[in-house]
Amino acid sequence: MDFKEKIRVILDYPQKGIRFKDITTLLKDGPAYRAAIDRMAEFAREKKPDIIVGPEARGFVIGCPLAVQLGTGFAPVRKKGKLPFETIQAEYSLEYGKDALAMHKDAIQPGQRVLIADDLLATGGTIQTTIDLVKKLGGEIVGLTFLIELTYLNGREKLGPEHDIFTLVQY
Ligand code: 5GP
Repeated sequence: MDFKEKIRVILDYPQKGIRFKDITTLLKDGPAYRAAIDRMAEFAREKKPDIIVGPEARGFVIGCPLAVQLGTGFAPVRKKGKLPFETIQAEYSLEYGKDALAMHKDAIQPGQRVLIADDLLATGGTIQTTIDLVKKLGGEIVGLTFLIELTYLNGREKLGPEHDIFTLVQY
């Protein structure tokens, strides 16, 4: 399966100079979506996670089907102010912009094996913040997986060599 062919690239969105990777063209293609999740699940299963964690909103689109395939739970990371129960927070910066992310205080039990999933690894800012949140809750990060990696932004290097990272498509 040529996953790259299924991803639409939009020039100058949401800002001039950005080549936005639009995954909706892959998601609406049933066999492509399933094949992508299957490949990511192969990697994820080997890590024997107890729970999958994904940041809103596209992290849900990848993380939730992975959790269902593996039979694990799923815990959401959301922008601050969106979760109803008590939360912990951490700041993050995007390829374009800045915000804070939050998780429920009881989303992860200390010592749980956590696999983190998102649609795209760019600078790594979003995922570093997600890692910080998981660690604060005492989770053990056993792997990270992304549909897309923008290798020229060096997110993988910034996250550090201690992380086992699987990406399906690289630009
Ligand atoms: P980072 O924090 O690694 O710089 O950026 C990754 C986050 O920004 C991901 O959560 C991803 O959803 C979003 N993002 C940044 N650029 C793109 C893009 O080109 N396409 C998509 N689909 N998401 C992007």
